Amino acid sequence: MPPFDPSALGFATRAVHAGTGPDAATGARAQPIYFTNGFVFESNEQAADIFAMRATGFSYSRGSNPTVAALERRVASLEGAKAAVAVSSGQSAVLLVMLTLMQSGDAYVASSRLFGGSLGLMRRLETRYDLTPHFTRGLTPEDFEAAITPKTRAIVCESIVNPCGAVTDLAGIAAVARRHGLPLVVDNTLASPALIRPIEHGADIVVHSTSKFLSGSGTVIGGIICDAGRFDWKGSGRYNLINEPWPDYDGLVVSEKFPETSFATACRLFGLRDLGPGLSPMNAFLTLTGTETLPLRMERHCSNARAVAGFLRDHPKVAWVSYPSLPGQPGEETANRYVPNGAGAIFTVALKGGQQAALDFITGLDLISHLVNIGEIKSLAIHPATTTHRQLRDEERAAAFVGPETVRLSIGLESVEDLIADVAQSLAKLP
Ligand SMILES: *Cc1c(COP(=O)(O)O)cnc(C)c1O
Repeated sequence: MPPFDPSALGFATRAVHAGTGPDAATGARAQPIYFTNGFVFESNEQAADIFAMRATGFSYSRGSNPTVAALERRVASLEGAKAAVAVSSGQSAVLLVMLTLMQSGDAYVASSRLFGGSLGLMRRLETRYDLTPHFTRGLTPEDFEAAITPKTRAIVCESIVNPCGAVTDLAGIAAVARRHGLPLVVDNTLASPALIRPIEHGADIVVHSTSKFLSGSGTVIGGIICDAGRFDWKGSGRYNLINEPWPDYDGLVVSEKFPETSFATACRLFGLRDLGPGLSPMNAFLTLTGTETLPLRMERHCSNARAVAGFLRDHPKVAWVSYPSLPGQPGEETANRYVPNGAGAIFTVALKGGQQAALDFITGLDLISHLVNIGEIKSLAIHPATTTHRQLRDEERAAAFVGPETVRLSIGLESVEDLIADVAQSLAKLP
C-alpha cells in the first residue's frame, strides 16, 4: 500500500503522518520496526532488476529498509525535499555529502563557523584525501563569494551555528551559489525543519544529525541527507558519480535515470552500498517517534532558551551571551528574519571570571547536566574550549564564541523557572 502522503497539509500534520500509514500486512497503526537484514525476492528477474537499478524494492537493509524508508519520507516531507537518505550518524551525513560531490583535488567553500566535529572531519579529508576547504572570513554572502576558486565544487554552511546560535543568511548565500553554479549544502541540525527549511531559501542539499532535535530525547545516534532535487547536475558538467555511467549498473547515468533525485540516488549507491553507514531500523523508529512532537518541542525549546539567555545576559557575573534573538544582540536582524520565534535552544555564555568561573559554573549546576550532546529535552552544559572545540586555534575559538570563559548551553523542556533557578544558584556560588 502506498504510504499516506499529506504533502499538501500543514507542517504539524506532516510531522505526525508523512511517510507512514497503517501497516499493509497487519493494520498496525504505528510504523512497524522491520528487524531483518534481507528481503526474499519474488523471482530471479526481480532480484536482477533490483541489483541493476531497473526496479525499486528492498533487498538488503544496508541500502534500504522499510522502517528507515518511512523516516526518509517523513524528513523529506518536513524539509520540502524530493528524497532523503538516512545514515548512521550526523558525521556520516556530512561525510557522504562531501565524498559523493567531490574527488581528490577538488575544493569547497566552508563557513568558518561550524560544529567542531565537521571541522575535524574537514581537516582529515584535506590532509589524507586532498579535498580542500576554503574557510570564509565571516558569515555574510560576500564572505562566501570571496572564498570561491575555480576548483570549488560546493558551499557548506550551518543554518544556525553550533555553538553560538548565530543565524545564517541562507537566501543570500544561495544566491551566490546559484551565480557560480555550485550546490549549497546546509547543516540544519540546530534549527530543525520546524524553525528553518533551507530548501525554501535556496539550499540544494540539507543534512541533519538526527541525534539532536529530530529524535529529541537524547537516545539515538543518526543522520539524514535531503535532496531538494533542483540543482542542474547535468548542466554543471561535473560530479562524476551523478553524471557519468556506473559500470556496476549497466552504464546507469544517475542524472538521466533519476533527474529529480539524482543526488540522493548517488548518495545511496556510493554512500550506503559502497561505504556502508546504514541506519538501524530501531533508531529510525525512535527518530520517527521524535519527529511527531518536533513542532511542539521547538516552540518550548525556543521560549525557554530566550528566557534563560535573557536572565544570563542581565546577570552581573556574566560578560555576554550569544543568543541572537535578544534585543540589541549581534545578528538580531538576520535572526528575526529567519526565526522570529527564537534562534533555537543552543547558545554560549561567557563568564566574567574567565575559564575557572566557566568550569565551576558547569559543575555547580544541579538540574542542567554536564554532557556533550545538544538539542534534546534535557538541558545540557559543556565547556567547548576544553572539549568539543579544543582542536581550534585560539583566534578561531574567539571567532566561534568559544573562548576559555565560554559555556555552551542547550536548553531543554523543563519548567523555565527551575532552569533559571539552577543557573542562578550556580552563579551565586562563583566568587
Ligand atoms: C552533532 C552534530 C553533527 C554530528 O552528528 P552526530 O550525530 O553526533 O554524528 C553534525 N553537525 C552538527 C551541527 C551537529 O550539531
